[in-house]
Amino acid sequence: MRSVVNGKEQSKILVVDDRAENLIALRALLGSLNHTVVEADSGKEALKVLLNEPIDLVLLDVNMPVMDGFETARLIRQRSPASSLPILFVSAREPSSDDIKRGYALGAVDYIIKPVVPEVLRAKVSALLDLQHRAKLLAVAVEERTVELTALNERAAKLRESIDELESFSYSVSHDLKAPARAIQMFAEALDEEEADKLSPTGKDYLTRIILSSKHLEKLITDVLAYSRMNVEPLAKTTVNVEGTIQEIINHNADFQAPKADIELIRPLQNIRGHAASLTQCLTNLLSNAVKFVRPGTMPHVKLWTESVDDSVRLNLKDNGIGIAPEHQERIFNAFERLNSEYAGTGFGLAIMRKAVERMGGRFGVESRPGEGSLFWIELPKAA
Ligand code: ADP
Repeated sequence: MRSVVNGKEQSKILVVDDRAENLIALRALLGSLNHTVVEADSGKEALKVLLNEPIDLVLLDVNMPVMDGFETARLIRQRSPASSLPILFVSAREPSSDDIKRGYALGAVDYIIKPVVPEVLRAKVSALLDLQHRAKLLAVAVEERTVELTALNERAAKLRESIDELESFSYSVSHDLKAPARAIQMFAEALDEEEADKLSPTGKDYLTRIILSSKHLEKLITDVLAYSRMNVEPLAKTTVNVEGTIQEIINHNADFQAPKADIELIRPLQNIRGHAASLTQCLTNLLSNAVKFVRPGTMPHVKLWTESVDDSVRLNLKDNGIGIAPEHQERIFNAFERLNSEYAGTGFGLAIMRKAVERMGGRFGVESRPGEGSLFWIELPKAA
């Protein structure tokens, strides 16, 4: 283990040699480096020391009886394969290519040839210790990051769990609210149709308000359900005919047809790969906003076209509406965010669109300025 003595880092070096005079000589040579030197006179003894003491470097004589240096090194690595403990072989001859191969297989090793040149020995020892020190610091940093990452992953999993729970809760609450909300609306409408003449003007006004509020409530419940359902239902992706999808949306909704609105398709419209029902939901929500957020008395005009962007198709919807100030353009994609309370709405349309696009692996955005209309776009993978 490294410690600090007189302001200098101190390491522990294990010197292994079967000859006492060599041990004395090596200890003397290492003296000026100011590290602690531990001695062992055989490979077996060295293994024993390593079991009991933390060592930073092993200086290992290659030619020893019974268990030579290579065999000792092999056993050291076998006992602790992940260890970065450096080994410096002291050899009477230049290492052969065979020695080098055996050495490399053992990880951080180097050779020094006898007679040992003091400067070379000290330089090699310092370099190997430095290397090992860095490896240790790196290992500590990696371990710290791994702990942090594990904690973060655990937190993310817990958060995901809470979100899932909340969403399934809001799904069941909304689901159960749907029937009573629908009943209020139906009975209020029945009252309006069959008994309105028996009501005073104030009573009639109250009834109108009940009908409007219950319609809003029903829309809100439908939107919350659509939003939470996005998490639950699996998305089977297929080729989706964009023009057919839009045409169908327009045909089913009088608000998107003349004389209420003018929706202009700039053909050809490219097909995408995605989930048909989710695309219908996205385009319906974008078109509803485009025809809704216009100045009173303005005929909504929406241009719709596609273009290629890398491997995706970008679907553009440009309207002639009231526009959106840049500082609000990010938050409108969150649930419940509404900028214009004078227009009816629940604040869920764009949040549903966002979730649907993300689940289909796409992107979305808006370019707009107040008074100059808005360009909403979604990018989805191109159909093969
Ligand atoms: P909702 O339409 O129910 O209010 P959305 O999530 O669809 O909710 O939209 C959020 C807000 O973004 C709207 O309330 C409106 O202020 C703004 N917005 C969305 N689309 C447009 C648009 N085409 N033109 C101007 N403002 C828009």
